[in-house]
Amino acid sequence: MSVSRTDAATVLKTILTTFNSYVCPGHPSPDADDLDVICDGTCMWTTAQKFGQAKTWAEIDATPTLYDHTQGEVSKGNWSIAWEGNAPDEWVFSEKLTENVRETTGGRVFIEPINTCILGVYPR
Ligand SMILES: [Zn+2]
Repeated sequence: MSVSRTDAATVLKTILTTFNSYVCPGHPSPDADDLDVICDGTCMWTTAQKFGQAKTWAEIDATPTLYDHTQGEVSKGNWSIAWEGNAPDEWVFSEKLTENVRETTGGRVFIEPINTCILGVYPR
């Protein structure tokens, strides 16, 4: 049993959409008098999915980063996702995230904190 790259990427994206306000403050409205348009965080998707060392430090702070077993502290077939920087406190313990990941991955994946800023991604 292992977690596919597609499912691992889905977990990464789910972190963006679950914590959207930490990933992106929103965008200026086309109508200057209106409030900013709320963003679901996916404007940072291209940045977030850059693999490991391809990311700058600023990008690592701004978005969670996916690592496979060769880079993270997990065994083969599992993944880890690290996010410190702009991340909400204790995001790895979020019940909302657990619930959202269950939905977006069709229950194929479970997540478990490795420490306070690294999440393990495992097959169910
Ligand atoms: Zn945005």
